[in-house]
Amino acid sequence: MRREKPYLLAIDQGTTSTRAMLFDAAARPVASHAIPLRQIYPANGWVEHDAGEIWQAALECCRAVLNGIPASQVAAIGITNQRETSLIWDRKTGAPLHNAIVWQDRRTAARCAALRKAGKAATIARKTGLLPDPYFSATKLEWLLKNVKGVKTRNGRLKDIAFGTIDSWLIWNLTRGAVHACDVTNASRTMLWNLKTRGWDPQLLKLFGVPRAVLPQVRESRGDFGTADPALLGAAIPILGVAGDQQAACFGQACFAPGDVKSTYGTGCFALVNTGRSVPRSRNRLLATALAGEQYAIEGSIFIAGAVVQWLRDELKILHAAAASETMAKQAACAEGLYFVPAFTGLGAPYWDPDARGAILGLTRDSGRAEIVRAALDAVCYQTRDLLEAMRRDVAAAGLKRLTSLKVDGGMVANDWFCQRLADLTGLRVDRPRVIETTALGAAYLAGLGAGLFESRKDIAARWALDRRFTPALKPKARDKLYAGWQQAVRRVRGQMLKIR
Ligand code: ADP
Repeated sequence: MRREKPYLLAIDQGTTSTRAMLFDAAARPVASHAIPLRQIYPANGWVEHDAGEIWQAALECCRAVLNGIPASQVAAIGITNQRETSLIWDRKTGAPLHNAIVWQDRRTAARCAALRKAGKAATIARKTGLLPDPYFSATKLEWLLKNVKGVKTRNGRLKDIAFGTIDSWLIWNLTRGAVHACDVTNASRTMLWNLKTRGWDPQLLKLFGVPRAVLPQVRESRGDFGTADPALLGAAIPILGVAGDQQAACFGQACFAPGDVKSTYGTGCFALVNTGRSVPRSRNRLLATALAGEQYAIEGSIFIAGAVVQWLRDELKILHAAAASETMAKQAACAEGLYFVPAFTGLGAPYWDPDARGAILGLTRDSGRAEIVRAALDAVCYQTRDLLEAMRRDVAAAGLKRLTSLKVDGGMVANDWFCQRLADLTGLRVDRPRVIETTALGAAYLAGLGAGLFESRKDIAARWALDRRFTPALKPKARDKLYAGWQQAVRRVRGQMLKIR
């Protein structure tokens, strides 16, 4: 094992902030620095980021964590990033031609509806594992190519431009334009990359009018993505690991065996189950996606998880801090029949109902603040069960082992009451690791494997350390009864955007 360069530098470029973390050779966090990212809302439902700001923040964060440590001591850089967010830049100048269009942006909703109407959904799902939705990059890139001034020359020819997801943008800048590449996990979120052939799909490129020449080269997550220009950080550090945020978290959680599940509770919730080396197909409205290491996963996402706690704090003002939700929930009376469906922006997997809206059902005279807080935390658990039910069916159809435990991470899992309730309402053992910064950790692991700091995935799995295990305490009958109530509550809010004239 090489020990002469004892550090790993991870860049974690997220939706609301850009962070760098420095890890030592045993993958222990040594330093961390984050810079918030400006959200740009040019129109209703549109969300953009300034790509230049992203790059400058990434560079500043890297310099801040190195603080006094010579860059020559860093064995490798790992990158993890918000997925699907798309941008184009001029290959000659390296200047972005437009703001990046963020994954949350809905500007291509009508185009996606038209694709569904034209019967393209089945082909798209078969090839990419995804659903025609504005979330993914393809229609964002199509929009950019059609609408950005300066993309075409006077005689209508496409200029020398590059398309990238955020990982490729960072790689391009770190290598000063020497490498235009993205990793397989990011490619698998574009809706242009074929999970089976593991290449850009010619039929989809045609469908979305995307010339092959603008696309990055796709490389394995644990791979060679070039070397950071020494003028930037002080040494020519190799970039040896890249993965989209959820796939990086999966790696950081050491979900390496088929049937391993991780669930991340930040603003939203993303659950992924490793399905091994063959390409999965969800029959239950979840997504199929690539993992690092030539494996695949089935993924389900919930739009509102920690965001419901934020809403209670910032809009309803019944919490002074997110962490206070724990004490409140403990104090609450067990208000049976009280359900909070936080469908603020519709419902994600497995419902995919953009018209659903939030509701609190079953209020009585003794429902107070504490009961509402508890119902909100419950909702995140019930929504997780919704995902797990769909996953269980997919996993059973694929002949994989039964799901027995859930590895959790993200800001919300600091809440013990929530973790216990999650175990109770899903019936799965909930395991919380010591390091809950699993996204940056995953990127560091990938880079560290490449640099020879870790020998194998087995070596990484052995480093996964449990902070606390939560075991289901509720009887299955009681659990199912409560869940049946949740399903009724969801039924009541579906397609229910109230139209008042
Ligand atoms: P993101 O990466 O999406 O910004 P984080 O992983 O930082 O999110 O988690 C922050 C989210 O977790 C916020 O939505 C916040 O409301 C929620 N949160 C943080 N601490 C707690 C807590 N102790 N109990 C419940 N929710 C919490």
